[in-house]
Amino acid sequence: MKQKLCVLGATGSIGDSTLDVAARHPDLFEIHALVANIRVDEMLARVERFRPNKVVMNDEAAAQQLRQQIVSRGLSTQVFGGQAAAIDAACEADTVMAAIVGAAGLAPTIAAARLGRRILLANKEALVMAGPLFVQACRDSNALVLPIDSEHNAIFQCLPVSTEAIAKRQALVPSDLSRVSHLVLTASGGPFRDYTLQQMESVTPEQAVAHPNWAMGRKISVDSATLMNKGLELIEACLLYGLNADKIEVVVHPQSIIHSMVQFIDGSLLAQMGQPDMRTPIAHCMAWPDRFEAGVPPLNLLKVARLDFKEPDELKFACLKLARQAYSIGPAAPCVLNAANEIAVSAFLERKIGFLDIAHVNEIVMNLLGHQLAPQSIEDVLALNDQSRQAAQQEVDRFTNSHFAITQSQHPLRDLTE
Ligand code: NAD
Ligand code: MG
Repeated sequence: MKQKLCVLGATGSIGDSTLDVAARHPDLFEIHALVANIRVDEMLARVERFRPNKVVMNDEAAAQQLRQQIVSRGLSTQVFGGQAAAIDAACEADTVMAAIVGAAGLAPTIAAARLGRRILLANKEALVMAGPLFVQACRDSNALVLPIDSEHNAIFQCLPVSTEAIAKRQALVPSDLSRVSHLVLTASGGPFRDYTLQQMESVTPEQAVAHPNWAMGRKISVDSATLMNKGLELIEACLLYGLNADKIEVVVHPQSIIHSMVQFIDGSLLAQMGQPDMRTPIAHCMAWPDRFEAGVPPLNLLKVARLDFKEPDELKFACLKLARQAYSIGPAAPCVLNAANEIAVSAFLERKIGFLDIAHVNEIVMNLLGHQLAPQSIEDVLALNDQSRQAAQQEVDRFTNSHFAITQSQHPLRDLTE
């Protein structure tokens, strides 16, 4: 029997890699639904190539435009608009690739998890913001959550899994951590790994999204440059594997060949290696507990030649420290931090604030709102997310105005001299 696949975030980088892998195994997967935000042409190209049963555009006007294009081409794919339709599409599938970027991915992902669907989790923000509520929802419905994020997937591959866990369909990530001493998350360090703080002050969005090893969406690329991505991943690892943050070490490994490691109590350190190509973790989760071909060439160790490791500098990369703090404060703080970061990153991409201001906005908003009691429901999570986004927007506006003031005062004769 083919699995019905829904790809949330189908026009993105993970969406593309997922469709590439699924197309290699048409005997195993039926593309049930593709879900994206607003870009009609990009979705149309995927509809023509992969012929899904349905597509959903979050933006209603984009859905309307796409519907016209699909009808005029004589294609049979049905088109829907809005978030409720995205939730329906996810719930109808057997397997859901959760790859919408940011908090927008929470609603369809958690709806499918509540029905016990197989969730391939790329959208780390959804897990970070809802935290224990997300984990409990999966436990209650016995939903299997397989980690797509390369680090968490590497850890999953290094951990033992009992055949009983597979047979019983153990909820969440089915793995045994009883003989684990700690986890080691690797980080490339991003494009500014060797920059001084002074150099980082003036980096541009173009420099920040040019990741040295991975081709990814813009938001996660900026998160990789600030190391916020590693911070979100630290929280993601705590939640998926039920560990405290002090059981997770972060190591900078510039080559991105070792995707993460598990240290066992007998001294063994197991690492998963491979090309920096997301089709490997995606194929691993799509085929699990089997394996199948992903289109990724084998690793040539002679070409790699060396693997380097160093400690992350949390003074330069304050977002990593903030994430560690957020997890120790309690479940509201990661939600607040994630929301603030989404606003700060888009303000940076729109050139409204500088690169180092991202961490400042995050810290201010986390200190302001992160110490609240734990949200009791997904509705509470969404309300806290909205409140934190608003607070972050105010900080961004304040930064923008004060930068403007500084720029003007530093260059009082600018208009006259130009
Ligand atoms: P991307 O920017 O390339 O794609 C984002 C996708 O989300 C697009 O299809 C967009 O249309 C869709 N989207 C955005 N807002 C939406 C909304 N409101 N409703 C419906 N769809 C919406 O991002 P990406 O790099 O593919 O990353 C996706 C997720 O996977 C992120 O959470 C990221 O952290 C995670 N992830 C990505 C990688 C990677 O290598 N790209 C690795 C690990 C984890
Ligand atoms: Mg990752």
